[in-house]
Amino acid sequence: MNYAEILTRLGIGEADLAGGSLAVRTPIDGSEIAKVPELAPEKMADVIATSKAAFKKWRMVPAPRRGELVRLLGEELRAAKDDLGQLVTLEAGKIFQEGLGEVQEMIDICDFAVGLSRQLYGLTIASERPGHRMQETWHPIGPVGIISAFNFPVAVWSWNAALALVCGNPVIWKPSEKTPLTALACQKILEKAIARFGDDAPAGLSQVVIGGAALGEALVTSEDVPVISATGSTRMGRIVGPKVAERFGRSILELGGNNAMIVSPTADLEMAVRAIVFSAVGTAGQRCTTLRRLFVHDSVYDQLIPRLVKAYAGVPAGNPLEQGVLMGPLIDSDSFDRMQGSLAAAKETGATVHGGARQLEDKFPNGYYVTPAIVEMKSQEQVMKDETFAPILYVMRYSDLDDAIDMQNDVPQGLSSCIFSTDVRETEAFLSDAGSDCGIANVNIGPSGAEIGGAFGGEKETGGGRESGSDAWKAYMRRATNTINYSRELPLAQGIKFDI
Ligand code: NAD
Repeated sequence: MNYAEILTRLGIGEADLAGGSLAVRTPIDGSEIAKVPELAPEKMADVIATSKAAFKKWRMVPAPRRGELVRLLGEELRAAKDDLGQLVTLEAGKIFQEGLGEVQEMIDICDFAVGLSRQLYGLTIASERPGHRMQETWHPIGPVGIISAFNFPVAVWSWNAALALVCGNPVIWKPSEKTPLTALACQKILEKAIARFGDDAPAGLSQVVIGGAALGEALVTSEDVPVISATGSTRMGRIVGPKVAERFGRSILELGGNNAMIVSPTADLEMAVRAIVFSAVGTAGQRCTTLRRLFVHDSVYDQLIPRLVKAYAGVPAGNPLEQGVLMGPLIDSDSFDRMQGSLAAAKETGATVHGGARQLEDKFPNGYYVTPAIVEMKSQEQVMKDETFAPILYVMRYSDLDDAIDMQNDVPQGLSSCIFSTDVRETEAFLSDAGSDCGIANVNIGPSGAEIGGAFGGEKETGGGRESGSDAWKAYMRRATNTINYSRELPLAQGIKFDI
């Protein structure tokens, strides 16, 4: 593949890379694709000032007109889908089908946001006072800072940006330092939409800043950025969350997951096997919603696990750009080392490990390809409670559904979960107040691959944020309660008398 041609088609030219210092490596073979210029943290103040100025103009553009810009962005994304999908594969290492899926998700959220731009509705509330009316109104809030992770290098930006823009806010995006090229490409695609949209879009409506944690912190600590949407590890969230709270900013945190599936005695095992393999092995186990823990009822354990082990042995790994390959590389050697560390820790607890070794080392000496691992655990040990961002599936037996739900919930994270069962009593128990404690709870589908129409996010160490569909837009606006007196009296609430 000619990488340079893809970059050119996406509008990234020499001028964009001039003076580049951040080396971008493809995880496919570890080679350097480009060097990208970084922004010094001291320069963040200028970026934020530009964004503030853009806010003053953008908030005055009617929301449906703002939606028109996002509609054009969706059109430009449709036109760039193949190229951007390939660049995602190149930078993040996920298979091309998943790269395309990620771009489709961007298109879907644009469609959603366009509709939303003609809504953004508040409530009318009954007033206790005669001749009074109460209402809730929603208003643009200001610059939205977006910090994103390497594993969904473009979709996470679009979830935030499409909503923030229709809500009347400019955006400042600090992508992962591992995937800056896809971010530059998205900015170019948005710029094309802006050029078609015309003068209503102020300069600096969307800005991309490239750099690491220090640059992210310059964004996070600014009082002029009312909303910080941060996606990444719980480690990062522990730093970012308190810094935003300290200045009374609003954070939307989308952090680590440790997602589970319960396979009950009545499960359709054929469907379960397919769902398990896709959600545990897809993106080489590097999705926040990757299936990491599997609780299987005693009565079906001995049927399911050998089938899974067999299915795992047939997962074709290799260059994620090639057709037929279902699993690409891990992002880098650190990720590989962490995977090996977790497998060793599991073994020490007496677990049986299937797979997990490095493969294709001859062909890709600097690419970290592994066989996906199934780890049969005796009990839920600490290693199973940590998120290891790699294709490791811990498997355990259970005999009682309540115990299985308890074990599922007994981890610090609370992102996604699911049950495979055809017994309505079991599935309803799983979805009930006493069931899964996660932000996402599914029945007869895996924990990954969410649609954009629902609110996405999770509880506990996952951070509590919600993005994408449903009413997630409210996090990007300020709410005002208005009481309007159209009478000739001034009655006070709660019947208070205060006559002068
Ligand atoms: P990471 O935490 O290493 O980095 C994420 C982003 O945070 C990067 O842009 C990084 O530069 C930035 N960052 C790091 N420290 C910072 C600091 N102190 N201040 C400001 N910014 C800082 O995560 P990663 O390795 O890129 O991604 C994998 C992790 O992301 C996994 O834990 C995964 O579960 C999580 N994730 C969660 C979701 C979700 O929606 N819940 C989605 C995707 C990924």
